Amino acid sequence: MKRLALEAQVKAVPADIARVEQKIAAEKAAIEAARTELRDLEVKKKTLETEIGSAEQKIGQYKTQQLSIKKNDEYQAMGHQIETMQGQIGELEGRELELMYAIDEAKKRFAAAEAELKTNISGHETRIRMLRERETNLRSELTAAEAEVAAARPAVGDQRLRLYDRIASRNMPAVVPIVAGKCGGCHLKVSSEAESGARGKGADPLVVLPTCDQCGRIVYWEG
Ligand SMILES: [Zn+2]
Repeated sequence: MKRLALEAQVKAVPADIARVEQKIAAEKAAIEAARTELRDLEVKKKTLETEIGSAEQKIGQYKTQQLSIKKNDEYQAMGHQIETMQGQIGELEGRELELMYAIDEAKKRFAAAEAELKTNISGHETRIRMLRERETNLRSELTAAEAEVAAARPAVGDQRLRLYDRIASRNMPAVVPIVAGKCGGCHLKVSSEAESGARGKGADPLVVLPTCDQCGRIVYWEG
């Protein structure tokens, strides 16, 4: 039982380590996502600034052209174009303001994601280190338990060992108590023969091991 418990514990360690590593990866991914978002917003802002710049340049050109226009209606038409262009610039500037606000928010998210990893990383790393140490300790305990099992086997006798090994290969634990008339392995009712065998009232349990009639496990009386 001790050996089995240790085997199960050793087996569980890699998944525990993987879970911590997943947390680290998720926190790093959050930083990356925030970084990408920020970069995209800054590119959009640059593009807008370029658009605003060229619109302003165009207004300058229109104004210069307007100076040389003699006809009144053409002069007014050019004035109208300049106004339209100014309206467009106003709209672009409005969008630029929205972007600047979004950039501020993205910067906050980026800083928060970085801070979260910074806060948690040493805890994560400590946890992984502890899990690795635990694995090492469990493995040496397991080696000791395996040695104990090997040392205990010869005294049991070949016939009983064969029975034990056959059960152990498919139904662990192989040796279970009878609890309230039921097998501690399969939880079904055991026959009165099996029960009296376990109580030491039938055949000598050292000669014939009492077993559960349902699952075949070796049963013993806890008293
Ligand atoms: Zn049973």
